[in-house]
Amino acid sequence: MLYENWLHTSSTVKTSKCLELKEKISTECLVIGGGIAGLHAALRLVEGGKKVVLLEKRICGDSSSGQSAGFLTPQSEEDISKLTAKHGKEKSKIIHQIPFDGVDLIVNNIKKYKFKCDLRKQDSLYLSIKKSHDYKILEEKETCEEMQIPYKMLDENGLKKYHPGRGYRLGLIYPGTYGINSFAYCQEMKNLLLKKGVKIYEDTEVKKIEKNTAITHLGSVESKKIIVCIDKLKAEFDKEWSKKCYHIQTYVAISEPLSKKEMRSIFPKEELMCWDTKWDYAYYRPIMGNRLLVGASSPWTAYYPSYRLTQKVIVRGIDSLKEKFTEIKNVKFTYFWSGLIDVTQDLAPIVDYDRNNKSIQFVMGCIGLNWAAYCGDYAARRILNKNALDLSEFLGANRKFSFSGIFQIIFGKRVSFILSHLKELLT
Ligand SMILES: Cc1cc2nc3c(=O)[nH]c(=O)nc-3n(C[C@H](O)[C@H](O)[C@H](O)COP(=O)(O)OP(=O)(O)OC[C@H]3O[C@@H](n4cnc5c(N)ncnc54)[C@H](O)[C@@H]3O)c2cc1C
Repeated sequence: MLYENWLHTSSTVKTSKCLELKEKISTECLVIGGGIAGLHAALRLVEGGKKVVLLEKRICGDSSSGQSAGFLTPQSEEDISKLTAKHGKEKSKIIHQIPFDGVDLIVNNIKKYKFKCDLRKQDSLYLSIKKSHDYKILEEKETCEEMQIPYKMLDENGLKKYHPGRGYRLGLIYPGTYGINSFAYCQEMKNLLLKKGVKIYEDTEVKKIEKNTAITHLGSVESKKIIVCIDKLKAEFDKEWSKKCYHIQTYVAISEPLSKKEMRSIFPKEELMCWDTKWDYAYYRPIMGNRLLVGASSPWTAYYPSYRLTQKVIVRGIDSLKEKFTEIKNVKFTYFWSGLIDVTQDLAPIVDYDRNNKSIQFVMGCIGLNWAAYCGDYAARRILNKNALDLSEFLGANRKFSFSGIFQIIFGKRVSFILSHLKELLT
C-alpha cells in the first residue's frame, strides 16, 4: 500500500492556489485555519455582510478535514445513552442537536451550491462485535426510543439481510446520514468563499496573536474579531489553550474497485456506513468507483510519531474485515494514510472566548466534520448575534475535566487522556 491521501491526489475539483500573505492588512473579521470549522465560520461571516480574511498554514482542507473518511453522521462519536447519563435528558437533547445541525449545514451547502463531493445517502450501522458489547446497542436503542430518534434494530437474522458479516451480533441502523469526499468538499467551500469575496491566503502560518493582530511569517492581519480554528495547537501559539488539545490517531485505506458481487456480499440490500462498538472502532463504507474505504484507530499510537507511517493498525482493520466477509479476501487495498483527530478530554469540542480578549474566539477539539461545521458556524453567529444559543455549559473552556490541572502537569497529557477513557478502552 502506498502512503498517500488518495482523496487529495484523485480530486477533480479545480481550485486555484491562494498566495501567501506578504503584507500588513486589516479587516473586520479574521478566521485562522482553513479546515471545515474555519471554512464554515468564514461562510457565515461573509453571508452576514462582514469583510473576511482567512489564513491557512498549508492549503484549505489539507489537515484532518481533507483526510477524513467522510462519515457524515451525528451518532458515532459519543453514544447518546452516555450523553443522557452525563447531562440528563433535557440537556443531552440540546447537545445532541449539535451534530445533527452540523450534518444539515454541510448537506445543505452541498445541495444549495451543487458541490461535487460524492455525496451519498448512506444510513449508519452501529455493530456489536461481542456479547459483552451488546448492552451498548441495547442502551442506544432505548435512548433513541426515549428521545424519539428514528432507528432500526437488527438481530442476527436481520443482520443477515443488511450486513451478513461473521461475528456481528446486533446492529442499529440510523437513517438520514451521508458519506462525502471531505477533501472535495473543502475545495468547493474554498471556491465558494473566494466567489463571495473572502480573501484567502494559503501557505500562511499564524505564529501568534498580539492584541487584535495575527502575526504571520511574512505579514500580519489586524482585525476587530478573530476566530481561531487551528489544529494541533502548539504552546508557542498559546500555552493555556494548547493544554486542552489531545489527539486520537486514525488510519484510512482505499481498496481497488470491487466487483458488484463483492460489494453485494457486504451490502446485499443497500449501501451503509458501518462502525463497531469498540472505543477505538473500525469503520468502513463504499465510496466512488465501487471502492471500499476502511478505517481503524488506536489510542496507543497517537503520541508515537514513528507509528504514523506504518501500516500495522490499518492492516489489522482490513484483515479483520476480510475475515468477516470472505468474498473480499483477495481484494487489494492500494492507498492508506493516517491522521490525528484533535479532541478535548471529554470529547466535546470547545468554542470559547480568549480569557484576556473577548474579541478572539477559539474553536478546538472538533471530533467530527459535522461538529467542526457547527462550531465554526456557531462562533461566527456569536459575532453576528444571530440565533446563537448559550452553549457555554457544554462547549465552554472552563467546564470540568476529570484529569486536568495539576494532575496533567505531573503526569502529562498522554496519561491524563488515557486515564479519562480507561474504562471504555478496557471493555
Ligand atoms: C484520518 C481521519 C479520518 C476521519 N474520519 C472522519 C469521518 O469519517 N467523519 C467525521 O465526521 N470526522 C472524521 N474525522 C475527523 C474530522 O476530519 C475532524 O474532526 C474535522 O475535520 C476537524 O475540522 P477542523 O476544521 O476543526 O480542523 P482541521 O481540518 O484540522 O483544520 C485546521 C486547519 O488549521 C490549519 N492551521 C493549523 N495551524 C495553523 C496556523 N498556525 N496558522 C494557520 N493555519 C493553521 C491547518 O493547516 C488546518 O487546515 C477524521 C479525521 C481523520 C484525521
